[in-house]
Amino acid sequence: MTDKKNIAIIGAGLVGSLLSLYLSRRGHKVDLYERRPDLRKITVDGGRSINLALSDRGWRALRGIGIEEQVRKVAVPMHGRMMHDEQGKLSFLPYGKEGQYIYSVSRAGLNMALMNLSEPDPNINFHFNEQLLDLDLRKHEALLRNTETQEQTKLKPDLLFGADGAFSMVRLAMQKTELYNYSQSYLEYGYKELTIPATADGGWALEKNALHIWPRGNYMMIALPNIDGSFTCTLFFPYKGEASFASLTTEAQLLEFFGRVFPDAVPLMPGLAEEFFENPVGSLVTIKCFPWSYGGNTLLIGDAAHAVVPFYGQGMNAGFEDITVLDQLLDTFDGDWQQLFETFEQKRKPDADAIADLAVENFIEMRDKVADPRFLLRKKIEAKINEQYPGKWIPLYSMVTFSDYPYSYALETGRIQDKIMRKVMKHIKSVDDYSKPEVQQLLEKQLIQKEKLKPYRA
Ligand SMILES: Cc1cc2nc3c(=O)[nH]c(=O)nc-3n(C[C@H](O)[C@H](O)[C@H](O)COP(=O)(O)OP(=O)(O)OC[C@H]3O[C@@H](n4cnc5c(N)ncnc54)[C@H](O)[C@@H]3O)c2cc1C
Repeated sequence: MTDKKNIAIIGAGLVGSLLSLYLSRRGHKVDLYERRPDLRKITVDGGRSINLALSDRGWRALRGIGIEEQVRKVAVPMHGRMMHDEQGKLSFLPYGKEGQYIYSVSRAGLNMALMNLSEPDPNINFHFNEQLLDLDLRKHEALLRNTETQEQTKLKPDLLFGADGAFSMVRLAMQKTELYNYSQSYLEYGYKELTIPATADGGWALEKNALHIWPRGNYMMIALPNIDGSFTCTLFFPYKGEASFASLTTEAQLLEFFGRVFPDAVPLMPGLAEEFFENPVGSLVTIKCFPWSYGGNTLLIGDAAHAVVPFYGQGMNAGFEDITVLDQLLDTFDGDWQQLFETFEQKRKPDADAIADLAVENFIEMRDKVADPRFLLRKKIEAKINEQYPGKWIPLYSMVTFSDYPYSYALETGRIQDKIMRKVMKHIKSVDDYSKPEVQQLLEKQLIQKEKLKPYRA
């Protein structure tokens, strides 16, 4: 350790809180400024996603500070997707191989666990109700306002991290600098959270260890289990159009619509009408920007640098992976923050762009393709290829979710594999066709070409 720094982190959400632990471990003094009150002292406001899917990249970052087991105890494993058709018939698609699960965790619970871990650390201080109002990048001076007392404070930390989420004020300051690249793109869909409560005996009203999906073509509802027996459902729905938030304005319309398209879910949702008309509609945005750093003393991280839509369940996982990557680079560049930040943003940007694009594409898979028997057959064939050639083929979903391959590698390899699958599936009518000699020969030929195009990255 060359030099201990006074570091300010703006935003004590998931990424900011975890980052504080990593920085303190290296001996730095960390102050976190969070515009909301202390989560642990208030009831959490509705509307922000209540639970999140945590997968390998996220676990790795939690393991790095020794909190993995603690979180796993309150996480619900989801072994695969459980699809509900319009007659309420179920079909199940495993996520990966036996033992490869994603986990449903409470956003607030995880955030509080991270805060509880940081709080006793003498190097970490939380400042709640402190909102960043403005950042003068040239002077490296931040202006904050206490949301309770309205008192304003100026800060001049050695380093400042913007972990202040998709609508980051730190990024806004960077956007005002010359040659700054920024784009935001909204889907024409919003989301609304609804609940399936626990059963009378405290159990789960649907299969507990699954992520439930009601795919309906151009919209869908999903449900993730909570540890208390309830499920948090999210309806992803167009803002406008025939079936849309705009078209469901009365309780009668809502109940008729839900009764028709989600018939097996409605009896499990006693608070449907109340929640539907009270809960807010959230927007779905992809934000890309570059650079992520300024002057060797300010860096964006997590959603502030790359907000993605939630259809790959990777936003938080990607933010946590940012921290893993940054921590690895600290071994090399400790002391040279300018080099460190520039190397970090160069290395990470292609991966952030890749997961942003993959997440948008996965919306179509979730809301539409998973209802198609041909698509499910293709998934089974891919699992067989993976079983037969584990060193040469990993399905795209598994690369993203169950590996630490860079997202950009997963995206490119996924594109090549998609082309191969299209060729292979022309010869497949059932799973048994997989062992036909012509299929095996075609596959072997294609795998040789794939190795030339994109060598397997072990
Ligand atoms: C519906 C939905 C479902 C999702 N599901 C998943 C999932 O299954 N898996 C997954 O990995 N990801 C998921 N995500 C994405 C995930 O929520 C985000 O990627 C993650 O929360 C990003 O963490 P963060 O700390 O960077 O930002 P945030 O969680 O947004 O935290 C930012 C913090 O900064 C604070 N802040 C903001 N502005 C200021 C300011 N001016 N001054 C001081 N403080 C400020 C905020 O109050 C907040 O506490 C989902 C997102 C949505 C919307």
